[in-house]
Amino acid sequence: MRTVQSREPITTGDQEPELNIFVLIDALGWEVIQGRRFLEDLLPYRRPLRTVLGFSSGAIPTILTGRPPAETGHWNLFYFDPKGSPFRWLRYLAFLPPWAMDHRVGRKLLKELGRRFLGLGPLFECCVKPSVLHYFNWVERRNIYGPAGISNSRSIFDELVSKHIPHRVYTYHDMNDHQIVNRALDDITHDRARVLFLYLSEMDMFLHTHVNDGARIGQRLDEYERDLTRLYNAASARCGSVSMTIFSDHGMTPVREHYDLVRDVEALPYHSPSDYLAVYDSTMARFWFFGDKAREAIENILSASPCGRILSDAELSGLGVLFEDRRFGDLVFLLHPGWLIAASDFNGPSWNPAGMHGYHPDDSYSDAVFLSTCRPAFRVATIKDIYQCFKAALNESHEPPCSDETGPR
Ligand SMILES: [Zn+2]
Repeated sequence: MRTVQSREPITTGDQEPELNIFVLIDALGWEVIQGRRFLEDLLPYRRPLRTVLGFSSGAIPTILTGRPPAETGHWNLFYFDPKGSPFRWLRYLAFLPPWAMDHRVGRKLLKELGRRFLGLGPLFECCVKPSVLHYFNWVERRNIYGPAGISNSRSIFDELVSKHIPHRVYTYHDMNDHQIVNRALDDITHDRARVLFLYLSEMDMFLHTHVNDGARIGQRLDEYERDLTRLYNAASARCGSVSMTIFSDHGMTPVREHYDLVRDVEALPYHSPSDYLAVYDSTMARFWFFGDKAREAIENILSASPCGRILSDAELSGLGVLFEDRRFGDLVFLLHPGWLIAASDFNGPSWNPAGMHGYHPDDSYSDAVFLSTCRPAFRVATIKDIYQCFKAALNESHEPPCSDETGPR
């Protein structure tokens, strides 16, 4: 959980500055807004954006830096790093039977430990079995919405700070999305910020639950429309020139099938962690192998599985997620759109979402959105391209980043 932050002191001057408002609505998919008039009058320049393979942990750093996960180092949250693992001391408890460690109480204790004492940040979740946690490290140790928050790349927040551009960043902590917009509204009347960045996170869980309920989605979008229109109007009342851009990190795909992949793998005569390690995310399974026989047997099981397919290195490279040191897996198995790993490390058995994300970016339900007051002066086709919109907002010019090169859709 994160706090509302003011990254830079808001400076004052004689001239009213232009204001650029960026709003990241987590999981707002193109398929969700298609056919709806959501903010259509205010934001006429609209298009789907191709996401990157993975989850928000990879997609948002890509948005903030304009670089793929293979360059930022931010993809899935857990990566193989037994020497650097903040939980390497857990290996001294390896004599305990797995059931004793992999209990939900153990996971909760480790979550609190990670958050409070191991410097893993307030969003740390123990999404790997505790009995093998000492093999893994955690990517998101820093606040990605602050300077130096992304491991290997400069983000928009580094740019804002280094250029001394007055800005405000609102990310969630103890407020809901409506309250975050209200906080920005309070600030806008007396601030001289040139850039506002709002991260609204609630849509993700809402769509996980209600992706098939068109009426409820409509009501929810109406609430966002009211709030964001108020924000835009207040900004316009303060500045003559305001741009607003709403975008998302990925969409949401209706879940149709479940598959117990863990059961299939654990039925083999090979054992974790001596023969292999596995992390089961909702839509993806990643494996590290310590012997050829285990590798062969698991590859055979996966190849015969109806629920997904093994991604080749060429495909991983093309998707911007091939890591030479294989920290995110010797092998990546991706579920077909609409399939879900039953009782993965990420989804407990008690959670049965109606929608999920993390499928192949070719899946149209995975498309994110780009909605803007202004026609971008450059091609905006993937979430990576949003970074160019940020950069345009940092120009010394106070003109909004518009041109006539591309049209709305
Ligand atoms: Zn989600």
